[in-house]
Amino acid sequence: MTDPRAALPAVTTLLDDDAVAAAVAAHGHARTVAALRAALAEARAAVVTGDGDTADGDGEPAAPTSETVIAAALARLTDQDRRRLQPVINATGVLLHTNLGRAPLSGTAVQAIAGAAGPTNLELDLAQGERGGRGAVAHAALTRLTGADAALAVNNGAAALVLALTVLGHGREVVISRGELVEIGGSFRLPDIMASAGCHLREVGTTNRTRIDDYRAAIGPETGALLRVHPSNFRIDGFTARPTTSELSQLARQAGVAFIEDIGSGLLVRSKVARDEPVASQVVADGADLVIFSGDKLLGGPQAGILVGDAELVERCRRHPLARALRLDKLRMAALEATLASYERDALEELPAWALASVPVEELQSRAERLADRAAGIAAVATEAVLGGGSTPGNRLASVGLAVDGDAEQLAAALRRGDPPVVGRIVEDRLVLDLRSVPESQDEQLMAALAAAQGSAGARDATS
Ligand SMILES: *Cc1c(COP(=O)(O)O)cnc(C)c1O
Repeated sequence: MTDPRAALPAVTTLLDDDAVAAAVAAHGHARTVAALRAALAEARAAVVTGDGDTADGDGEPAAPTSETVIAAALARLTDQDRRRLQPVINATGVLLHTNLGRAPLSGTAVQAIAGAAGPTNLELDLAQGERGGRGAVAHAALTRLTGADAALAVNNGAAALVLALTVLGHGREVVISRGELVEIGGSFRLPDIMASAGCHLREVGTTNRTRIDDYRAAIGPETGALLRVHPSNFRIDGFTARPTTSELSQLARQAGVAFIEDIGSGLLVRSKVARDEPVASQVVADGADLVIFSGDKLLGGPQAGILVGDAELVERCRRHPLARALRLDKLRMAALEATLASYERDALEELPAWALASVPVEELQSRAERLADRAAGIAAVATEAVLGGGSTPGNRLASVGLAVDGDAEQLAAALRRGDPPVVGRIVEDRLVLDLRSVPESQDEQLMAALAAAQGSAGARDATS
């Protein structure tokens, strides 16, 4: 017998195929060749292990043909394309889902991004024909919305904190409560952030209780700043205490050191759906010297990190060389301007996360019932949604979802592979598509994706 591997076609031969030539045009030569090589390697391995096609009936694996190798390579390219960034329907019930890109942008923010895609007046004052300040419009809006003297927007909340700590605490001590040495997400841990900014961590108090006198006792000639960090993603209940922002501001002023407060989510307007979140303007009014928050959590804008507060401190941050490395690009600056303009017009309903959070639960209920009536194997069920994005961990939003009959894992996987992909959540072994995080305008797409997923998961059931 001959080694069937010898019959495998060469890459150069495969490249002559019309379908492969089309793939080269669509995906590029290098990517297509890599996919062909991978498909060939797989075919070779299948021959060796005997997993190949034995259609000729002699029990020996047949040599893979050019057609099967090409089909496998094209499937591989299609699979890779699924990984590109694309719109996804968020049926998780988590309104600000970090894995799904946090805040969905408003229509005006999206337009602003498109408008700034080409040349734009990012650093040009069009009236004077002179170099203008990057972000001046957003910064002015932020001062009006928070009552602070000055503002600066950088890459994200972590960057804003690193910048503030570098400016105020590099080579010095930064005093923080032991209850606030938190981890916000895998790579964001307060002690590591402090170290990377060259600060010496000076922990005070205990995990559950820290008093103003603990801070006072720690302040000395080495102190660069006091830092307070909002416990965004956890809650300590019971025997707890921590000083108020006002008490810390007062102490910092008496001692002549700066007080930085990282409030996390960037709530600009008091809201009953985010009861426990600090409001930026309140923290400014209570006297924090620098207040830090994210742009893409409750603020509802693009990824950004915002520093507001004392004009001299903000200016020191702006002038620090690190600010150049952490600066915001023109597209996100445009989206941030547009998002802040919605606040200034008092038009929170323009921000999708806020619009979704404020839909009455009765409306979700009747919508879910209407949708459930349209297809088999779906029922409207009461759920609890959350704002997410590391905000208000204790706060739940009453919601309604579509519970889907069938193998939950299989359905979830089929929906993720759909077009558009739909991400739901599994509750007690049932797949649930939570309508709190789905704009009603996406209902038809959702139902079509669901029908397709039920079909493909059903087909797999039948063959397994
Ligand atoms: C989310 C969060 C951060 C990090 O902000 P990013 O914008 O994600 O970089 C920092 N501090 C607190 C308290 C947060 O909640």
